[in-house]
Order: sequence, then structure tokens, then C-alpha cells
Amino acid sequence: MHALVVHGGAGIASGAAKAQQRACALALECGWKILAGGGSALDSVVAAVELMEDEPTLNAGYGSCLTEDGTVELDAAVMDGCERRAGAVALVRRLRHPVRAARLLLEEGRHVFLAGEAVETFAAARGMPLVDSATLVTPARRDAWAARQRAADASVGEAASIDATLSEAADERDPGEDGAGTVGAVAFDVGCHVAAATSTGGISGKRAGRIGDSPIIGAGTLADDRAGAVSATGDGEAIIRATVASVALEILRSGVGPERAAEVALAELTRVGGTGGLIVVDRFGRVAAAHTTPRMTWASRCA
Ligand code: ASP
Repeated sequence: MHALVVHGGAGIASGAAKAQQRACALALECGWKILAGGGSALDSVVAAVELMEDEPTLNAGYGSCLTEDGTVELDAAVMDGCERRAGAVALVRRLRHPVRAARLLLEEGRHVFLAGEAVETFAAARGMPLVDSATLVTPARRDAWAARQRAADASVGEAASIDATLSEAADERDPGEDGAGTVGAVAFDVGCHVAAATSTGGISGKRAGRIGDSPIIGAGTLADDRAGAVSATGDGEAIIRATVASVALEILRSGVGPERAAEVALAELTRVGGTGGLIVVDRFGRVAAAHTTPRMTWASRCA
């Protein structure tokens, strides 16, 4: 038996929904091939997430949303439920596949979390190509950022008009300026091991240096063979404060199913004032996906 769930982020309705759904379907297929061939949950989630990092309408790798300075700063994490090995990276500017760097960190086993240039130095020393940060920015993201800047400039002293201009920009944007489109995957393999991976550009207009929930073990990403695996998406600050993934795994460990675990974790997120979603697989290969946002892109398969 094996199972795989992938997500392409929680958020509001977006003109990019179809492309995002297609990317999820392709990622599912890619990760599924690995599981079906007897491969590991860890290999499967990394492959699925890497594929989504290449999709321009998703907020990870190429196509990530921009900071208030107009730069990209990417976060990612991966965790193996077997022995709870983990790798996490943050504030990455020159890697197209931050999840691969997180995987390398996991494999090395020396540190769990690296941020900034140190990630790039670490990854480059292990053969990952460093790219010009500008090549990670899509024209849609650049336009959305410029619209945001214009709105902010035009509205000095006129708070109401900021909102109006931003929502106009939101109609034009594709994908969502809110940063929705974070990607993640959770899997259960033939050896009964689970794994989780998450990758994101964070939230649009974030302060440079801000790190969200995705690379934080226990918040946006978590896996433990004794319980299951989780990848979350949504309001990063609230997900961190609610320790969403941790709450879900605690419920799973108590023997309750993944749907209920997702529900309890989201209730906790709501309690701290956040919205979002999560995907879950438990230690028996049962899966769930749930969200409090108007929509979340996801796909799953079990056999
Ligand atoms: N949770 C991500 C972050 O806050 C964003 C998202 O999932 O939409 O960085």
C-alpha cells in the first residue's frame, strides 16, 4: 500500500487555478511513479515538490512572490518520518529548487536549518547550480509588485485608496498577489514510512528577512512514522503560532483519523486568527486535505 497527497497552496480564487491544478496533477503523477516502483516516501515528496517549484503560477521556486523590496526569498523543508530526519532552508535567493537543498541538508545530518547565503554556499558545494535571482521572477509577479508599489505611492495619506487600488491590481494579477500557491507533498511508502515536504516564496510584500511556517518543523512541515506526515499552507505567522503540523500529528498519534486531525489543527489555526489548509497522511496510509480558505489546490492517490 502507498499514498501520496500534494497541494498547490490555500488562498482565494485565482485566475491561475487551472494551471495550478494541472501542476498538482503532474506532481502527483511524478511522485506516484516513485512510490509505485517501490521508491521511498522521501524521494516521492521531493520529486513532487521539485516539479511544482518549476510551475510559474505556483508560489515556489520559479514564480515565487516578491518581498516589499522586489526580491525573492524562498523557504523549504523536508522531513523523513523514519528517524525524524529533517532539512530546512530559508531566505534562499539563488536556487531554483530550494527543496533539493533541504534534502541535501537532511542527508548530511549535521544541521537541520540553514538560512541565507549559507544555503547557497552549501548547495553549490554539492553540485546545485546557482542561478541569477532575477530568473526566478515571472513577468506576472513583477507586474503585481509594480502595481503594489504604485498603489502604495499613490496612497500616501489616503489609506482608503490603497485598498481600492490593491484590489484592482488583484483582479489583474495572475496568480494571487497574496502569495497563495505554496506547494507541498506528503507520502506513505511500501515500507510504511512517511515523509513531508513544503516549498514557498512566502507572502507577497513581506519584509525582507521574514521566514514563514513552511521551513519550520512542527509548524508547516512534519513527519513521524509513529503518527503520519503534514504539509501546511496559509497565514505563516498564524501557522507558526498554532504549531499546526504538530497539533495534527499529536491527534494522529492518539489513534484518531487524518480528517479529524486536520479539523482540529485548523480549529487551532482559526483560534489564533489565521486561515489556511493542510494535507495529511497517517501511519496507515490514510489521507486527508482540508482548508478554511475559499480554496486549496490539491490532489491525492492511494493504492
Ligand atoms: N505559509 C506560507 C508562508 O506564510 C504562505 C502560503 O502558504 O500561502 O510563508
